[in-house]
Amino acid sequence: LKADYAMIRRESGFISGLVCVLHDVTEQEKNERERRAFVSNVSHELRTPLTSMRSYLEALSDGAWEDPEIAPRFISVSLVETDRMIRMINDLLNLSRMDAQKSPLQLEFVNLNELLNFVLDRFDMVIANENKNYSIRREFTLRTIWLEVDPDKIIQVLDNIMNNALKYSPDGGEVTCTLLETHNNVIISISDQGMGIPQKDVKRIFDRFFRVDKARSRAMGGSGLGLAISKEVIQDHGGTIWAESKEGKGSTFYISLPYEAFEEEDWG
Ligand code: ADP
Repeated sequence: LKADYAMIRRESGFISGLVCVLHDVTEQEKNERERRAFVSNVSHELRTPLTSMRSYLEALSDGAWEDPEIAPRFISVSLVETDRMIRMINDLLNLSRMDAQKSPLQLEFVNLNELLNFVLDRFDMVIANENKNYSIRREFTLRTIWLEVDPDKIIQVLDNIMNNALKYSPDGGEVTCTLLETHNNVIISISDQGMGIPQKDVKRIFDRFFRVDKARSRAMGGSGLGLAISKEVIQDHGGTIWAESKEGKGSTFYISLPYEAFEEEDWG
């Protein structure tokens, strides 16, 4: 709490009163601290790919461009780094649009069972094409769940979590996706049998730029923003997202969205 005082003086010079204004600065200071940390994070995140690109470009300009073996390799690294920066900037722009409430949800009634199948079918395809050692299991409620959501954004969240499930399961394994309804929520869960997350970090993975293993995440092309965006999207839908994990065993991500089941009678 911060206090500002102002003395009220009479023309005679005597003080006749005291005005005291109290501000809640703890919240303000916290926001300011978070803003500074955020700017510092962004700068660091961009510096890494930029300095790496700079050294490749420097080598090329120092003569490596003439070497038919080396030149294409250095150029391709620079392209990979550029792509990563573009991805990161796009993620940041998305986040700041959501922060500023400038990206309103495009709500539609969708069949959630179908939407989930659509996402998982795509991953099945990728796994088959890349000959990977993964399998995806689906455990859905037998009821058809109709829900008013922004389908593009929900697909983005599911893609994120599915991508992570595969990315952080280096030895493959089974990814299980469940869909169930409770009295007034639908819950989607995605479990993997991957490396898991240390207990102390589980809460922080939804923070912007937080990564358990920065080097590993970067090597995989990660920006550390996927889950922060996912959290924002789910909160915009009035829902919650959380994770449970055991290191070395695997992780489960849960998404809960508000839901009101249509009773048979409602249809007349
Ligand atoms: P990234 O681009 O680094 O994957 P995310 O925001 O998607 O960023 O995830 C943040 C961090 O959370 C990751 O760097 C990783 O350490 C951890 N993480 C996310 N999903 C999983 C998972 N399924 N298994 C283990 N760790 C995970």
